[in-house]
Amino acid sequence: MSTPTSPKILIAGGGIGGLFMGILLEKAGLDYQIFESNTEFLPLGAACGLSYNIMAAVDQLGMLEDLKKISTTVEINTIFKQDMEVIREIRLRENKLGTGYDTLVTSRPEFHALLLSHVPKEKIHMGKKIVSLQQDLETVTITCEDKSTYTGDLLIGADGAYSDVRKAMYKDMEKDGMTPKIKVDEPQIHIMSYLGVAENLDPANYEGLGEEESHSDTIIGEGRGETWRYFTATDNRVCWRFDYQSNSMTPEDIEAWKNSDYLAFPKESINPDFRKYELAIMGNLGQMFDATPKERLSKVVLEENVPQSWYHKRTVLIGDAAHRVLPNFGALNAILDAIILSNALYEMPNANHKNITRAFEEFYAERFPTDERDLSPKQQSATILAGKTWLDTAGRFLLMKMVPKYFKERSLEYICQYRPQVTFLPKIESKGTVQSTPQRPSKKYAALVKSQGSTSTSATAV
Ligand SMILES: Cc1cc2nc3c(=O)[nH]c(=O)nc-3n(C[C@H](O)[C@H](O)[C@H](O)COP(=O)(O)OP(=O)(O)OC[C@H]3O[C@@H](n4cnc5c(N)ncnc54)[C@H](O)[C@@H]3O)c2cc1C
Repeated sequence: MSTPTSPKILIAGGGIGGLFMGILLEKAGLDYQIFESNTEFLPLGAACGLSYNIMAAVDQLGMLEDLKKISTTVEINTIFKQDMEVIREIRLRENKLGTGYDTLVTSRPEFHALLLSHVPKEKIHMGKKIVSLQQDLETVTITCEDKSTYTGDLLIGADGAYSDVRKAMYKDMEKDGMTPKIKVDEPQIHIMSYLGVAENLDPANYEGLGEEESHSDTIIGEGRGETWRYFTATDNRVCWRFDYQSNSMTPEDIEAWKNSDYLAFPKESINPDFRKYELAIMGNLGQMFDATPKERLSKVVLEENVPQSWYHKRTVLIGDAAHRVLPNFGALNAILDAIILSNALYEMPNANHKNITRAFEEFYAERFPTDERDLSPKQQSATILAGKTWLDTAGRFLLMKMVPKYFKERSLEYICQYRPQVTFLPKIESKGTVQSTPQRPSKKYAALVKSQGSTSTSATAV
């Protein structure tokens, strides 16, 4: 139940970031509505990697046990050459010791469904594609494709990589004589991906199916930029992805792929040469394509994109709308954004312009990657794409990119520290050997706890 003084919050997009934000705002008692462009949610996508960085917050929200039921744990990430020679094993076990939590992997459709089950139905408005926004220092109004309009105190753009809210916000900035900061001066390297979830696989034919621990493998192909990776998942399934990379796509090619962002497509259109590529768990990619129901097979073009303008007046961006990095970790970053932003919004005494600006500034200061290396798409891509630099990357690099200031020294301890909690919920005591980065406690929550005379909750710094 929202409080009478609650700001009215509009959320664009019912993806991972938008729904997680909704769950947090529900707990905060703030008034929110989610506007999703699709008329129904599509069960598309492959894997979401969810690390220990968010598990304390998931625990606070009471969702950890349900998340574990739809996830497998990742203890080792193995990187192979195409001939199955092991290049490197990235061990995540030590991170569990440090943080008290596993790294989990789940399929995006199931994770999305779990989040959806925690948001009251009446808060989600389907078939509401936001096409424009008007804002001033008092309110923000969105207009949807069906001509409906909604007005609120602030707008959270969680509408994904090709965010219409971002475009509308940039237009508004330009109208106000400001230039949105977007890094477009460097050639972008595009990654084309096919992805899906193969189902009903026979455990006799593949290693690791049915085990609690996922086989998490990345295979660097001999062909330029060809990489395939997969996680064995619950219920004899494999979440798989096949990437090939190019820095020579024509603008028309890119547009054609972009327009099919996570959309289903016929498997017959996949180059048959890719089918024979082998997996380290036995079998080949062709078997994965064939065992993937057609409504769960999608393709997407991925380009890294971290624009520097994340908010203007009463609008703020989170998740892929703010920063798109390479896949599997988009969900993790969107969730971290939602946690930090909800903490700041909860603390606002009211929704006047000054308080909203302060909340957005706080969010940006914590979540924007300040390290120059993190802002250079060329350097990021080079690090990720060039053959042997995969050694630096899989898992750790991606995790580190969006939380860079905490990872200046890349020690295990440093990596494990960033485990922000929801400051308006009872704190979860640290379960690991590594202390988490201190957070400013919520004064408002401390006052609430005091007024309720509760002794069972803690509002001390987490
Ligand atoms: C169908 C689908 C499948 C995906 N599969 C994978 C995957 O397998 N692996 C992976 O790593 N990442 C995948 N992603 C991306 C991943 O979900 C994100 O990187 C990450 O979760 C960040 O979440 P987000 O909320 O910022 O964006 P998303 O999860 O992409 O959510 C954005 C939401 O906004 C909605 N939307 C878009 N435009 C508008 C608009 N104008 N008005 C209102 N709503 C709008 C979209 O329909 C979508 O529901 C997928 C995304 C989608 C939409």
